[in-house]
Amino acid sequence: MLHLQYICGVNSAEQIRARGLKATPVRTGVLEALQQSDAAMTTHELETLLGKVDRITLYRVLKDFCESGLLHKVTGPDGVTRFAVCHNSCHRQAHADDHVHFTCTNCQKMYCLAHTHNPGLQLPRGFSMTTVQILAEGICHQCNQ
Ligand SMILES: [Zn+2]
Ligand SMILES: [Zn+2]
Ligand SMILES: [Zn+2]
Repeated sequence: MLHLQYICGVNSAEQIRARGLKATPVRTGVLEALQQSDAAMTTHELETLLGKVDRITLYRVLKDFCESGLLHKVTGPDGVTRFAVCHNSCHRQAHADDHVHFTCTNCQKMYCLAHTHNPGLQLPRGFSMTTVQILAEGICHQCNQ
């Protein structure tokens, strides 16, 4: 477990630098927290997990990460925005996170269903799409046990 966390730590700093950002402790902390989480997280959850992090700094880190293709944000049925790690092929200004987001109505966790893709929405002439949010609700694997 410790070994795994160590590897994650190295990767997170490298991934941050690869996007042209400095790997500050808050940045690596945020990225590692989300990489190790099975579900998307709210800013409140990140704040609680990371402890002594200035709220403005945290908001700025999340904004930078979303812009640079490290994280994507999704607003759940409850209206709360959650953050999750991006697909490997995401990069600055070009996200590839058109997967379904699943919210558990029992534990309120939101999961990225990375293998379920946009079913190929047909847009009327003259429309262009920048983001897709497909939300599914139900009971997650943990609550179904
Ligand atoms: Zn993305
Ligand atoms: Zn659940
Ligand atoms: Zn996602």
